[in-house]
Amino acid sequence: MSCKANQCIRCTVKECANHCTDKDYCVLDSIMIGTHETNPTKAECTDCQSFLRK
Ligand code: SF4
Repeated sequence: MSCKANQCIRCTVKECANHCTDKDYCVLDSIMIGTHETNPTKAECTDCQSFLRK
């Protein structure tokens, strides 16, 4: 079964319910990115807040 991959949002988090498991894309129309840091300085400081547990 193929999912509706949003070609504008690439993602490798296969553990997310919104991930297109056969391809490295998200299925959502848009996502929200945030941070858990008070002063983010690198990519690791950011999070996808649209993540949903499977
Ligand atoms: S919601 Fe975020 S973490 Fe989940 S598949 Fe989409 S981009 Fe990846």
